[in-house]
Amino acid sequence: MKIPFLDLKAAHAELRGELEAASRRVLESGWFIMGPECEAFEAEFAAYCGARHCVGVGNGLEALHLILRAMGVGEGDEVIVPSNTYIATWLAVSYAGATPVPVEPDGRTHNLDPARVEEAVTPRTKVIMPVHLYGQTADMDAINEIAVRRNLRVVEDAAQAHGASYKGRRAGSLADAAGFSFYPGKNLGALGDAGAVVTDDDGLADRVRVLRNYGSRVKYEHEARGYNSRLDELQAALMRAKLPVLDGWNGRRRRVAESYLQQLEGVAGLILPVVPEWAEPVWHLFVVRTPERARLQAYLSEAGVGTLVHYPKPPHMQTAYADAGHRAGDFPLAGRLSAEVLSLPMGPHLSDEAVEYVVSKLSSFA
Ligand SMILES: *Cc1c(COP(=O)(O)O)cnc(C)c1O
Repeated sequence: MKIPFLDLKAAHAELRGELEAASRRVLESGWFIMGPECEAFEAEFAAYCGARHCVGVGNGLEALHLILRAMGVGEGDEVIVPSNTYIATWLAVSYAGATPVPVEPDGRTHNLDPARVEEAVTPRTKVIMPVHLYGQTADMDAINEIAVRRNLRVVEDAAQAHGASYKGRRAGSLADAAGFSFYPGKNLGALGDAGAVVTDDDGLADRVRVLRNYGSRVKYEHEARGYNSRLDELQAALMRAKLPVLDGWNGRRRRVAESYLQQLEGVAGLILPVVPEWAEPVWHLFVVRTPERARLQAYLSEAGVGTLVHYPKPPHMQTAYADAGHRAGDFPLAGRLSAEVLSLPMGPHLSDEAVEYVVSKLSSFA
């Protein structure tokens, strides 16, 4: 049996007719940037998240960057970020000219630990940026409570959490603003790069709209030195075809996760994901932990099972941040997780037989 880590072809085969109709609509319209498809997607995705505004942008990194810019974050400011995240979270802060200040996760959920956030706040801190890692929301009430008390703003990195909820409310409606990525492999993916800012804040949404389009509100009038970061008509139309099935696809991911959780319980040497009672994850990734990661990954690969590591090297150990003065042992939990995590095959098109097969291989490994 050959089981890919993620089967995007199956996803697109299921919606072939809808995706072709969407592409045709855009081709025939002759309008490709900032038009009716982007506007319609923005309204539909804002409603999906339970927020007032959605502003389509070029990608997830830009979504986070433009939020920080719109909040006035810049040189000399600090933004609290997880020590164990994809580097985009940190880069968004660096793009804005500010300093990413890493905080270690809760060892059970892998999400930002509110108890450690408070210790990292300094007079320069402006924003806390939790990541809803692997599709499970961070502990937002605890984080928002610190932010209110310390007069900070909170930005969700929701790039992995389309449809995830926290105490019944969806990612995108849990803080001052949220950045989403629609990279093809995300739970809601474009067929190329795309992203969005989601917020209830009228002023913030307005500033992001201006910044994403060359700082311009009226053609050839530029009120700010903005950027070119727009969600194009083709990607918006394609995602409008996919948004109606997102809940169904997330539901199928949930069933795969439940199956893994049930059947892998008690497998020696394997630490399974922990879901707090307030979280309803959308399982962007199903991540297990084992000190035998390299051997297990090779064993599964030999058996035809595709796995990936999210992520093998934490941002503070990347050459890109060599000048920040972090050392190898500085964030031991992030370091340890990067050595032990392994993402199993996961997706809405993973069959029951495939799940059984992965489980049987994991069980026979020990
Ligand atoms: C994918 C991702 C991003 C960046 O999204 P792009 O669209 O690739 O720019 C940011 N943060 C996290 C946690 C991600 O997984």
